[in-house]
Amino acid sequence: MARVMITCPETGEPIYTGMSFDWSAFDSVRIGERKVRCPLCGEYHSWKRVDAFLEEDGGSA
Ligand SMILES: [Zn+2]
Repeated sequence: MARVMITCPETGEPIYTGMSFDWSAFDSVRIGERKVRCPLCGEYHSWKRVDAFLEEDGGSA
């Protein structure tokens, strides 16, 4: 599984959105606009799939 990350617009640091996908599934899954509470700046950031990137969560890709 890979963790879905976005970049915090305030700090420029990656944050975890709380969602995880298999790498292959991420290409086919539909994700609407979502909001995540940012652990870095405390604000809510809305994001879409185009804003997101995957970070490997331990296992092999
Ligand atoms: Zn933030």
